[in-house]
Amino acid sequence: MTGSPEYSLANLVHQGYKCTNMNARQPTLGIDPTRLLWERLASDLGKIFDAHGVCAAASFAIATSTDTLTLVSISDPDRNHYDVWICDSNGKIDQDRWPGKEAAFNRIVQANGPELYEKLEAPPRERIRSELWQLASDSILAVPLPFPTTPGQITTPGAICLVDPPKVCPVNKRTIGPIAIQISAFLERALLRQRSDQQEVEFGIMSEISTSLTSTLHLDEIIVQVTDAVRRVLGAESLTIGLTEPNRREIVFVEALMGPSFNDMPPASFQIGQGIAGWVALHGEPAIVNDAYADHRFSSKVDRDTGFLTNSVLCVPLKAEQQTIGVLEALNKQNGKFDENDSRLLQAISGPLAIAIENALLHSDVLSEKRRIETIFASMSDGLMTTNAKGDITAANDALISLLDVGDTVITGEAVATAIKMQPDDFSEFFNQVLQDGREFPQLAGNLLRKNGEYAPVLISGTKIDKEDGSVDEVIFVFSDLGQIREVERMRDDFFNNIVHELRTPLATILMYARLLKEGKAIDDPTRANRFLGVIERESDRLQKMVRQMLQLAKLESDTRQRQSESTNINLLLEQILPPLADRAREKGLIFKEVVQPRLPAVKGSEDTHYMIIKNLVENGIKFTPTGSVSVEAWLQKSSVLVEITDEGIGIPKEALPNLFQRFYRTKSAVERGIAGTGLGLYMVKEGLETIGGAIEVSSQEGKGTRFTVSLPIADD
Ligand code: ADP
Repeated sequence: MTGSPEYSLANLVHQGYKCTNMNARQPTLGIDPTRLLWERLASDLGKIFDAHGVCAAASFAIATSTDTLTLVSISDPDRNHYDVWICDSNGKIDQDRWPGKEAAFNRIVQANGPELYEKLEAPPRERIRSELWQLASDSILAVPLPFPTTPGQITTPGAICLVDPPKVCPVNKRTIGPIAIQISAFLERALLRQRSDQQEVEFGIMSEISTSLTSTLHLDEIIVQVTDAVRRVLGAESLTIGLTEPNRREIVFVEALMGPSFNDMPPASFQIGQGIAGWVALHGEPAIVNDAYADHRFSSKVDRDTGFLTNSVLCVPLKAEQQTIGVLEALNKQNGKFDENDSRLLQAISGPLAIAIENALLHSDVLSEKRRIETIFASMSDGLMTTNAKGDITAANDALISLLDVGDTVITGEAVATAIKMQPDDFSEFFNQVLQDGREFPQLAGNLLRKNGEYAPVLISGTKIDKEDGSVDEVIFVFSDLGQIREVERMRDDFFNNIVHELRTPLATILMYARLLKEGKAIDDPTRANRFLGVIERESDRLQKMVRQMLQLAKLESDTRQRQSESTNINLLLEQILPPLADRAREKGLIFKEVVQPRLPAVKGSEDTHYMIIKNLVENGIKFTPTGSVSVEAWLQKSSVLVEITDEGIGIPKEALPNLFQRFYRTKSAVERGIAGTGLGLYMVKEGLETIGGAIEVSSQEGKGTRFTVSLPIADD
């Protein structure tokens, strides 16, 4: 800054007086009108603090004092355009903006002082096309602004022009110089004032942003709060924030470039080192680029992808604890060029912004960790309970609530001594033991009193979590339901017995017929031999199927998280599965019907899973239907494809329905009728549906038939 406005004003008033005195020594001029104008300008302009106001008031004062059309103009720093105030002798002012190239001001602003420009001598192109020469018929008396001897550097180029000035005029080639000096001084003062006002605004916005940054921990809100305010104060078309992804060495822009219309675009990203943002991230230094396409660092990739046209870029690094975590980038300064001042402003914001972003990311990490723990807590099949050091329950999961059989009663806040009653040992004693015990996971086996008065056998493990100062922060207890564990063990035993039984039957048959063949019981009877071989083949098939089913199950259990990206064309799959099943049904004498809506959307999950689900259900329909029909229908309903398998078979007793999807479960009637099976099929169907987020419903009437309705969620794309 060159000095305070007061200093500049005093300086100029001093110079002005010197000029006036000089004029006073010219007897032909007549001092009074010029001096009057001088004093009028001093008093009018002294009250005005913005540059445009100074230009308007100056043109008015000169035009009305001289009875001459007067024009005062001022340009932007690059002279791309001129703001022009044109005042006629009646004091009527028009304001206009003329493009720099067509304004015909070049000769005037580059002159060393006042000149009288004759229209006839003006370059022909200028004379015909320029806005300025449209106003004059003969000549223009003009002086550059700021007047070349004016101290200070901040006034942008401009001019004072008197259009067709009269021969005798208080403002003439000699007096217009001092007047221009005087106006230059007021312009400089106004621009300084504007600049300090602007700095005040910037400071205000900065402190507002800093305050708002500390008021939220959500990245989205931080971005919204910062981007719009900073974009406006910089006068930029767009402001974006890019965050570095350290593992992939990439910067990903979190804010779409041009607002809502670009929301569907994938987020723009750069390799570190690529493009201006990549350069800034790599070097940790700001970059000011006012002609993007001429800069070797610029990459037009995003422009090509989005249709955005980048002209200028101001990019600063976002640093938290010496680490560059991203960049803050302003694009396309609306009026003029990005400068050091803009860069300083953006850098001042980038510090608190980087810290706020770091905090937000940490916060979201902590939140997701908390959610993860809560999910594990809620979804564990074991009962879980946490207490404080005093023994008040701070949380209990659903598994514990159902183990205690307390329904909707909230046990959080209760003392463990009242909520947990054990036999034969007291739970409070165990609690104290956990508090004192240095061992990890002390255990207590016993019977837990349920609300219904019954006891459930449990094994309880406990552990304490200490605070940093060594005192107890929290105590965690895990309740394993021994009854359930025993039930699982029993089911596993049943499963093996079942499997052994199922495997033994076909094996015994195969062995028997093989022996008969070996003993030559069919040696002279090819028909008999064929029958024996047929039995061996059929039983081998059955064996093979059972083994395959068990392998499938093992695979399904170990691979419960299927790749989300997989999807299945259900029309195509049904076209493959249904014909052989239809043949099998017809061979058995059943009617097979299928009604499949064409062009169903793809459904989530792999073909293998859908194949297994549909095949098991249709095979069951055929297997459990001695006479009548089996039908398969598929149609789209909301965001799912529904597949319904209906049969007119033996049906399922009502009391069997709750157990139907359990492993190895087979209805009594199926076993009694000697219908082969393992009880694994429906369990596998249920497991398969869970992996794709699907569902199954069953309705059945004993002796009448059964209907399974499967809903398969459609794939995302
Ligand atoms: P499997 O068919 O090998 O016995 P599943 O798990 O597929 O094993 O079926 C379990 C049991 O559910 C069957 O044993 C049978 O009792 C009953 N069930 C399944 N589907 C039907 C059906 N369509 N009609 C009657 N009962 C059925």
